[in-house]
Amino acid sequence: MKVVYTDNNATTKVADEVLKEMLPYFGELYGNPSSMHTFGDQVDKKIKQARQRVANFINAEPDEIVFTSCGTESDNSAIYSAINAYPEKKHIITSKVEHPAINKLYQHLQKTKGYEVTFVPVDKKGCLDLDLLYKSMSDNTAIISLMWANNETGIIFPIEEIAKKANEKGILFHTDAVQAAGKIDIDVKRAGVDMLSLSGHKIHAPKGVGVLYVKKGFKFSPFLIGGHQEKGRRGGTENTVSIIGLGKACELAKKNLPIMNTQVKELRDYLEAQLLEKISSSSVNGDLEKRLPNTLSIGFDAVEGESILLLLDREGICASSGSACTSGSLDPSHVLMAMEVPFKSAHGSIRFSLSHYNTKQEMDIIIATLVPAIQKLREMSPFWKDGKVV
Ligand code: PLP
Repeated sequence: MKVVYTDNNATTKVADEVLKEMLPYFGELYGNPSSMHTFGDQVDKKIKQARQRVANFINAEPDEIVFTSCGTESDNSAIYSAINAYPEKKHIITSKVEHPAINKLYQHLQKTKGYEVTFVPVDKKGCLDLDLLYKSMSDNTAIISLMWANNETGIIFPIEEIAKKANEKGILFHTDAVQAAGKIDIDVKRAGVDMLSLSGHKIHAPKGVGVLYVKKGFKFSPFLIGGHQEKGRRGGTENTVSIIGLGKACELAKKNLPIMNTQVKELRDYLEAQLLEKISSSSVNGDLEKRLPNTLSIGFDAVEGESILLLLDREGICASSGSACTSGSLDPSHVLMAMEVPFKSAHGSIRFSLSHYNTKQEMDIIIATLVPAIQKLREMSPFWKDGKVV
């Protein structure tokens, strides 16, 4: 059965061009980039090229790029470094809809280290309460961390505006741009952020590699203490092959950005319009405009997201009922709950996240599968009677 893959916010296919670039470094070119010999040095040169490519992707300087093992490590490193830099400041700010890589870490710091945490709420459209955010900034705030775009709904936060306010108040600002990267333009200089996280596997590079951008001048303290790698900012022999792949993926992502905002967005909009038209009592979660071009979070009243996913899966369609990290639990996602999405549709919410590999034909397969699937599930649902929610 042919797979229709629309779960690109969970992970992406490694691009053929990326794989091609990586393969020699799995095989004959296995040297350690830290070695003195020429054999290792040729890997070091390739890592330098990757660093330059990542820097170009986000308009940073190459020595502002720290390679990590994943987005989660980048997020954790940023926050720990900030609180180490300002041990006297005991307040930290984030939002209620962050990925667990930030959300759980903040809860951990609150519980175990006594940090006062402001979890800024969002409105029904998933947009941040900016008044509350700005009011909560104080001299005691060590760091503000806010995602650039949400993994479940695709809602984009006004990062440039918020970073400006944080800069004015002299507060460090980190953004988790794991989902924004490759979907909207990212320019760290224009945005004015101090730190920014990326993850390889969301932009057609392999899993297990990430980036933390650290603005020049910030006294960064390493999360992984060890060797001199990454200029002492992250100990451990580099994941050379994946870093090389990530460099190529960043180059491709920059080139493909216009496709994201035309071709991919058109497919997403087509899927959305068709589902809303053909399935009654369905609604899109989140603001329709301030949204990533590839993401559709859509709720179907009176059905269970997990049941929908099973029926889609039988036809080879991959989607998600929330973030991959929270699926497996039957609670509606913390993101949809923070947006106060009514229980009846939060439970039946599905996320489709597209890439430039998707086609119109695939959207038609999804529509042709989902319309009868929802009808079938509603016929069995105790919350659905005579074509209406009860
Ligand atoms: N931040 C966001 C917004 C994400 O969507 C994810 C992954 O889903 C992460 C962080 C974690 O990235 P990684 O899987 O590379 O640890």
